[in-house]
Amino acid sequence: MRKPIIAGNWKMNGTIASGSILIEAFNNVLQDMDLSCDVVVCPPFTALERAVTLTRNTAIEVGAQTMDYHDAGAFTGEISPLMLTEVGVSYVIIGHSERREYYGEADETVNAKIKSAFRHNLIPIVCVGESLEQREAGHTLEWITSQLKGALQGISKEQVSQLIIAYEPIWAIGTGKTATAAQAETVCKSIRDYIRSVYGHDVSNEVRIQYGGSVKSDNSKQILGQPNIDGALVGGASLVVDDFVEIIKAAN
Ligand code: 13P
Repeated sequence: MRKPIIAGNWKMNGTIASGSILIEAFNNVLQDMDLSCDVVVCPPFTALERAVTLTRNTAIEVGAQTMDYHDAGAFTGEISPLMLTEVGVSYVIIGHSERREYYGEADETVNAKIKSAFRHNLIPIVCVGESLEQREAGHTLEWITSQLKGALQGISKEQVSQLIIAYEPIWAIGTGKTATAAQAETVCKSIRDYIRSVYGHDVSNEVRIQYGGSVKSDNSKQILGQPNIDGALVGGASLVVDDFVEIIKAAN
């Protein structure tokens, strides 16, 4: 059976100091829990090293929110996978809708980043999701399929079974407007069906699919109870100890 995975995307929030307090609070609660799900926190770059230090020998793992796909070079302002692995990061979010919208990340870039992540033993959390206009026009599934096709070009079956797909409808991110559990399940199921059609039954059974978009303590149980939803990518609520812990409990 697939192990659920709850990841907190802190986005551009907090400082090293406030992030440390948050992680210590998570540690305090989680150390007394019998965890049967994976837990990942994704702080801003500057707080990654401290996060890795504070989560050593705990159940929490650390992810980055993006990266460049080159190993090194003249790419001012960018962070390479080598830099992430040096710090001890295990996961990297790739193709978040905010990266796609504000920083022009296209499917080809997402694809190059996924390949680069695997070259460096980082587990990619690959984000896909439709806008409100696309949903209202009835183009959701077609759009998600095209994003997946572009993102996974040339990625091996084995790699696809190891990565995480995060379905994040853009209209539900940071809006307080969650997709209903049924809406989220419909898309996550069709993502799994697509993976099965291209990579086969075993891969589709193994790949973990998260839902993200206004996941909170009070809606997490219903969402995480869906058969094709294996976890959550949490924004705002991952910055609040009680909320994040409740979401983890709902997955456990
Ligand atoms: P919110 O949970 O704040 O809606 O953000 C979701 C998200 O974008 C996680 O990557």
